[in-house]
Parts: sequence; structure tokens; C-alpha cells
Amino acid sequence: MGKGDYYDILGIPQNAEDKEIKKAYRNLARKYHPDVCKDSGAEEKFKQINEAYSVLSDPQKRAQYDNMGHETFTNASKGSYTGGGGFGGGFSTDFSGFGDIFDFFGGGYRRTGPQPGADLLMRLSIPLEDAVSGTEREIEVMHTEPCPTCAGSGSETKKQNTCPRCGGTGQMRSTSHSPFGQFIRMTTCTQCGGRGKIPERQCRECRGSGHTRAKRKVAIHIPPGIDTGMRLRMEKYGEAGDFGAPNGDLFIEISVLPHARFTRFDDNLETYIDISPVQAVLGTLIEIETIDKRHIDVKSPRGVQNNTALRIPGEGVKRRGHPGDLLVRVRIVTPKQVSNEEREHYEKILEIEQKNKGKKGIFSGFMGKKKDRK
Ligand SMILES: [Zn+2]
Ligand SMILES: [Zn+2]
Repeated sequence: MGKGDYYDILGIPQNAEDKEIKKAYRNLARKYHPDVCKDSGAEEKFKQINEAYSVLSDPQKRAQYDNMGHETFTNASKGSYTGGGGFGGGFSTDFSGFGDIFDFFGGGYRRTGPQPGADLLMRLSIPLEDAVSGTEREIEVMHTEPCPTCAGSGSETKKQNTCPRCGGTGQMRSTSHSPFGQFIRMTTCTQCGGRGKIPERQCRECRGSGHTRAKRKVAIHIPPGIDTGMRLRMEKYGEAGDFGAPNGDLFIEISVLPHARFTRFDDNLETYIDISPVQAVLGTLIEIETIDKRHIDVKSPRGVQNNTALRIPGEGVKRRGHPGDLLVRVRIVTPKQVSNEEREHYEKILEIEQKNKGKKGIFSGFMGKKKDRK
């Protein structure tokens, strides 16, 4: 797709309200709908409009888009087949669903000519640390590709003859007359299925289709910041299309697995440290392991309260530009058992507390008497 900004595509300002977005989308989608608009490039434009709308109409996706910027959002990753393969597709992050694009037209639209390949959807679970830092992955996909026996020609001799029915155009014109004049309709040739050519001798391997099922390894780059439900799109890595038509796309839907020590809240991570009451009172330095296994010191201040979150900037999700933070929650754990020596000290502290009662410290009095205090 073109590099136009989603706001530009819909012709709206960046602070446009939902209503404005919807209105712009409806107008443009009607104008460029492939059943209506026969300009070359209308279909591509229609796709862009839908893509822009699917992102901007969803507050969460829109926020992500605004944050990441168009370039990062749509081209967050580049991928390629490992071990050859002649497809020119690239990756882009795609946060749109499949179903919501044509909803107000009451179903999809038909197109004549060679049919493009179907999209593939694949689900991939990744650990939280990979979502935080990004990662490279190799996945296996089953899809159709050109039959190796006949090199995609569908013919054992690898030779194709011009289709006698359509004369090689792949299309047939049918003319009809009406009170308004003569209508010419182009339809896909029924003999060659739009290919324009027919196999000289049908390939036994693929029965003349020119396609075969294949398992391929695909190297993918998962950008940092990805979250459950987001989809990576590998353009043209889906099913093979008819001769002369593009392949479908491969969508990889990500599911992020929970982590034993870290919880994600948007771009922030949260974890906890356990400290003793003494450490809470005196303040302490504690070494923690970050999600990417580095060791850093966290300073818990003097007099810290239970459940206080200590913020460590930049140690959250490593989104380029503005990474999230790590929140370390302090849990004050009361020791269940203490040594005799420790008990003596605790008793001494208690004594001092009792002595200071008269000075109205914060621990003075009993809970029940709180009302008496101002
Ligand atoms: Zn034909
Ligand atoms: Zn074949």
C-alpha cells in the first residue's frame, strides 16, 4: 500500500472525532467501491480506505497508531522466506480484523478476472519477554505455491496454449441490449479460468491447476510492543492466486503468554519485591532481575509503605521512541519466625514505642480509639 498517512487517506485532521471519521469513510468507500468505481487503482484505494478506517475507528488501535507513527505502525517488520522462494512480499503490522471491512455493503464484492489467492491466518503464542523486546521467529506455513513439476504452468510439457475460447485475454465479453443502450460486460473465461492459457498436456501432479500444497519456513520479525490480538501481515505470503493474480496475505495473530514474575499493563511492566519490616523502616537496596535477565539495583526508600510501586523508567516494553516503565511493588513480609536475638531487638523496639506513646506518634493509641484523635 502507499505511504499515505491514514488521516490523509481519509482526508481528515488528526484530531477528528469519531463521527467525522465515520462520515469520511462512508463517503470515500462509496466513491471508490470496486462495484461503483472503474478507475484503475480504485480497488487499491478502496483497500487503503478500509485499512485506514479499521485503525482510526478503533480508539485503542488509533492510540497505538498515533503513538507509533505511520511508518512504524505499517512497516514494523520485514520478513522473508528462508531457503529461497520467489515472493516479493513484505511485512506490515496490521491490527484490523477480517470481518468488519465490507459490513455496510452487505457482503463482499465480486471481481472479474483471475482470482487472487486466499489470505491465511495463523496463530502464534509468544512469551511476554519476546513481546517486550521483540524477537525473530521461524514458523512453518502450509500454503499453495506453484507446482514444481510443471513450474506452475499446469502442463506436463510446461507449455501452454492460448485459450481458444477467449483468445488469450482470460476474459469474455457479453453484450446485452437495454432501452438505455448497449451494455458490455467482461466476465472470466470459463474454459481457462482467466488464465488466458490452457495446459498443453495436463500436469498429473497438480491436475492442471499449476498449484501445489507446500510446507514452508518463514522468518518473521516480531516488533517490540506487540500484544495479544495484534496481527502481523506478510503481504503475498498467503495462498497462490490464479495466473496473473496476486497471492493472498499471511496474517499472524499474536497471543502473549503470561509470565511468572511480570505482568503487563500496556507498555508498563509490573513485578514485586519482598522486604522485611526492618528493611521497610530503614530503607534498602535490592537487586532484581529484569525481564531480559539483567540485574539492576532498586532502592526502596526509608519508611516505605506496603504495596508502594517504585518506578524504574525505560524498563518496560521496549517500544522505540518511548519505552514503558517497570513498576516494582514493595511487599512487606512479616517474618513468621525470628531468632532469640532478633526477638530481643524487636522487644527493645516495642519498649521504645511504648515509651514514646505519650508523644502521640503515629502508632500511639489503639485502633478503637482513633475517633478520639483529631
Ligand atoms: Zn480462456
Ligand atoms: Zn503441475
